[in-house]
Amino acid sequence: MHCISVIVPCFNEEDVLQAFHQEVTKELQTIDHTTYELIFVNDGSSDHTQDILESLSQVDPHCSYYTFSRNFGKEAAMYAGLKQAKGDLVVIMDADLQHPPRLLKPMAHAILDEHYDCCAGKRIDRQGEGKLRNFLSHSFYKIIHMQDGAGDFRMMSRQMVDAILECKEYNRYMKGIFSFVGFDTKWIPFHNVERVGGRSKWNLKSLFTYALQGIYSFSDAPIQWCMGIGLISLLASFVFLPIRPIVFFLMFFGGLQILCLSAIGEYASKCYLESKNRPIYIIKKQSQAREIQK
Ligand code: UDP
Ligand code: MG
Repeated sequence: MHCISVIVPCFNEEDVLQAFHQEVTKELQTIDHTTYELIFVNDGSSDHTQDILESLSQVDPHCSYYTFSRNFGKEAAMYAGLKQAKGDLVVIMDADLQHPPRLLKPMAHAILDEHYDCCAGKRIDRQGEGKLRNFLSHSFYKIIHMQDGAGDFRMMSRQMVDAILECKEYNRYMKGIFSFVGFDTKWIPFHNVERVGGRSKWNLKSLFTYALQGIYSFSDAPIQWCMGIGLISLLASFVFLPIRPIVFFLMFFGGLQILCLSAIGEYASKCYLESKNRPIYIIKKQSQAREIQK
């Protein structure tokens, strides 16, 4: 008998949790020869998420929850969930039903019968998202050389989960970690749907910060770009030497220097945060421990 652990990061999801629980349970029960557990990670919600999780864990023995002492972010919530998961198959899902539960079955099939280590959902459109966000997301995936539409919705083998848990960095960027650990991944395309209730926790500013986090945590491309730009400008400056447009030079190189310094500063600050060795999350409360239900 295999066990599927479903990890659900929740930040102010009172509107959707009941529906999520119902839909996902219905789907999980149709998968043959498996049992399951639902692990909710309450990432410092300020609405009634905690009450709902409390009652879910009381009425349904498949459900457990871990509540953070404050909002630590989805990355931390996913890490906490992975650490708690007992299953030999582990899947991460958003609480808002934007990750279709009907994919759970083909995902389990890909790992158990087709022997993939991982089966990931891949959004093929971005219906329900603003044009600007759509464009920026698209460009981001291009820059970082990642499958466009690849999200955190994926089912993984125990072996892959253990490899991910070995990555203990403080500045976590799960999409980067997935590709760092490797393993064979099967992609299943799905259409984006709007969340069933509540609102997205992301705005343009937080998405931008998230994208920078991804780039700085997982590549040294910005440093290389800076070096390239610096070198080219240096050489190009000789061409302008006889014409002397002084102000332009001052501004251009001033800006360039700040840009390069900021890239270096960004890496330095990452080192600083890592060296503090702080915990990635702090659990304030958790549901009673239970055996996995058959
Ligand atoms: N989430 C979280 N902590 C946060 C922000 C989001 O645990 O600080 C959870 C949220 O509850 C949801 C998932 O991460 O289950 C995805 O969030 P959201 O739907 O807001 O993102 P989007 O689908 O708009 O990318
Ligand atoms: Mg969502």
